[in-house]
Amino acid sequence: MRIAVEGCAHGELEIIYNALEEIEKNEGKKIDLLICCGDFQSTRNLDDLNSMAVPDKFKDMCTFYKYYSGEKIAPILTIFIGGNHEASSYLQELSYGGWVAPKIYYLGQANVVNIGGLRIAGISGIYKAKHYLRGHFELPPYNDSTLRSVYHIRNLEIFRLRQLTGNIDIFLSHDWPNGVTKFGDEQALLRRKKHFKDDIAADQLGSPPSMDLLTQHHPKYWFSAHLHCKFAAIIPNEDNSRSTKFLALDKCLAKRPFLQVLDIPHDENASMDLSYDLEWLAILYLTNHLLSVKNSIQYMPGPKCRGRWNFSPSESEKESVLKRFSGCLKITENFERTVEAYVPGSPVKYAKRSNEKFKTNKQTTDFCNKLEIDDPPGLLLIMQGGESKTENGEEFSQSFNSIGDEQDISASLDDDLTYESDLTFEASLNDDSGLRDEGEESGGRDCDELRDEGEGVSEVQSPIEPNLKKFKRRNLAIYADTTDIDL
Ligand SMILES: [Zn+2]
Ligand SMILES: [Zn+2]
Repeated sequence: MRIAVEGCAHGELEIIYNALEEIEKNEGKKIDLLICCGDFQSTRNLDDLNSMAVPDKFKDMCTFYKYYSGEKIAPILTIFIGGNHEASSYLQELSYGGWVAPKIYYLGQANVVNIGGLRIAGISGIYKAKHYLRGHFELPPYNDSTLRSVYHIRNLEIFRLRQLTGNIDIFLSHDWPNGVTKFGDEQALLRRKKHFKDDIAADQLGSPPSMDLLTQHHPKYWFSAHLHCKFAAIIPNEDNSRSTKFLALDKCLAKRPFLQVLDIPHDENASMDLSYDLEWLAILYLTNHLLSVKNSIQYMPGPKCRGRWNFSPSESEKESVLKRFSGCLKITENFERTVEAYVPGSPVKYAKRSNEKFKTNKQTTDFCNKLEIDDPPGLLLIMQGGESKTENGEEFSQSFNSIGDEQDISASLDDDLTYESDLTFEASLNDDSGLRDEGEESGGRDCDELRDEGEGVSEVQSPIEPNLKKFKRRNLAIYADTTDIDL
């Protein structure tokens, strides 16, 4: 199976598809799947631009809206995870995954899908200790803080991914698994990216929970993006039976290594439709009670907890989920346009995250109804609708989260009471360095571009008109936004 992997897409879909068509023509072989490792920027219109964490003057419509409006159709089935530059309110509607346009599927906050017998898992967002233990409390329109925290990885998704058993062929994360540079040519990387030095020395480059997932599952391949450079590594398995090939790619810019086409052996008899992974669906079902939309600390269950803490599903649990899906795991192509797509030339108003109305998305609602789990956007909207007046929705969550035996795990934990233990937990989770809050701040951010091409700033378009001219623009300064430490 021919799979194209893209680092950060940064909204340049048209360029990526053109490059792939060129490759197909040159090699005389078709590409079956495109995988994008985040910073996808699925902005449908100007409201979506306002839910993206970049300064107004660098907000750029790019070309996704053409695939959303139907003006263009993706020539290759495309799947992607989210990064830290996304149309976050749109992605948040599809928290368990969904079609953002025909043939373009967002994996959601975390997911596992199957195609051609290959099992592909992914986690969206970037790691920040500060929000790791919190619920998914962010509700559009975002404020300056939630605009960024919304894409920070939560322990719920990591916990769910840790319940998986069996082989995983491909794993996707936007930021790199922490410590991965040690398994490749770190010195060569440091010659190209000198400012990674301090973070690497302090063991703070990348995401610790992603490395935990890597060493637990040892997928055949692990693909990442975010740091805007190409880097390869091989992470051996302890028993040496199955090592993981890691590949990070650059972002979509001329003359940069942003694409890699791989031939991965697959099951010729398996369907080439995108399908749900039965074990993953069963995990979502079994851990539904752990979903929180509160801005407070929530620990995941462990051996010391009362009640169940291992949610790797049994055969009969998987069977019963399969029945809910009537034995068919193909992901229905049920994309529907729900907002007006951007019309080039239409008046631009960068009202600061004005009145974007957050809505539930039928794709998510249908999926959750079928699986009989809670619809996260639905829960958030009930909270907004006045079910709870508390600032962080505590009353709401306690009454709406269907917490069962494990209630004691989260319900009684309050920010003030557990701040201390938050620190302790983080310290034990992340070796001895304690909080990694601003881990990406120095070497980890991808704003190194500014240093390479700082003069590009003057070419950025005025804030009045969204920038539609590709490749003329040096869009690099976007990612050097000093107000957003997330980069
Ligand atoms: Zn990027
Ligand atoms: Zn990024």
